[in-house]
Amino acid sequence: MAVLPHHKCTIRSSQQVPTCRLPFQSCHTRVTCSATTSTKLKPTSNPDQPVIEPRLAISSTPVIPTITTNSPPLLNDSTLQSTWSHRAWVATGCSTVLISLAKSIVAAASCHIWLEPMLAGYVGYILADLGSGVYHWGIDNYGDESTPVFGNQIEAFQGHHKWPWTITRRQFANNLHALARAITFTVLPIDILCNDSIIHGFVCMCAGCIMFSQQFHAWAHGTKSKLPPLVVALQDVGVLVSRSQHAAHHRPPYNNNYCIVSGVWNEFLDKQKVFEALEMILFFKLGVRPRSWSEPSSDWTEETEIPSSQVAVH
Ligand SMILES: [Zn+2]
Ligand SMILES: [Zn+2]
Repeated sequence: MAVLPHHKCTIRSSQQVPTCRLPFQSCHTRVTCSATTSTKLKPTSNPDQPVIEPRLAISSTPVIPTITTNSPPLLNDSTLQSTWSHRAWVATGCSTVLISLAKSIVAAASCHIWLEPMLAGYVGYILADLGSGVYHWGIDNYGDESTPVFGNQIEAFQGHHKWPWTITRRQFANNLHALARAITFTVLPIDILCNDSIIHGFVCMCAGCIMFSQQFHAWAHGTKSKLPPLVVALQDVGVLVSRSQHAAHHRPPYNNNYCIVSGVWNEFLDKQKVFEALEMILFFKLGVRPRSWSEPSSDWTEETEIPSSQVAVH
């Protein structure tokens, strides 16, 4: 019986899922199995009765969770918690967006034009989805944690591909603060310098949707029964990116469905192979290869989360 100090998992036999003594709800392990790629025939005492090996055979060696230095964050991990700095940036970002909305309404009321600002807002919502897709594609495929400005986001998204479920445990401000900071620096000058109802109609919707795209993304990873009914309804009618559409992003070939606001652009971008064309252009012009060309990469291989219901907590 082996007890691994890091995860405190007790390995009982090769046929068992490790029993965990974690104080948390679940245990994240990579379960190692040996798989045969084709069906093999074994000679037996009766040559007319071949024995067919199972395609997926449990290894005879003990099942040992792979301990990597790159472990998923635990439930109470500080990297998932909001800090006062995160909350302050989200509050500032929301304030700049609300000021833009207020200025749009005030200017529209004074000029008695309502249709144009509302149409501008709709265009902002549609383009926010496209913007979220382009940004997501960029940080999924290029750069690393040492990249200036975007390094933290790139690292966070690589971690998200490996442990997608952790986004549902990330606290609200922790999830949104990076985009809220970018929105603050972009929208604040527009709030100060501009009084046009149409421009503010566009800006408040586009900036608001981009800032909240990470929340929409988190909801896309949620379980239907645990999500607010209004969120499920908005996902079902396509106002917010649907759970099924975003799930495809986390399945091979891992190079589609990048948009995470409404997902309205995903079908067009993927069918027209827009990102694949951009990847080719960047490769031939700059010689850089996107990460999606090196599949399957361990960075994109999703580890198995053992549901808490299957984990025997001692
Ligand atoms: Zn991604
Ligand atoms: Zn995701």
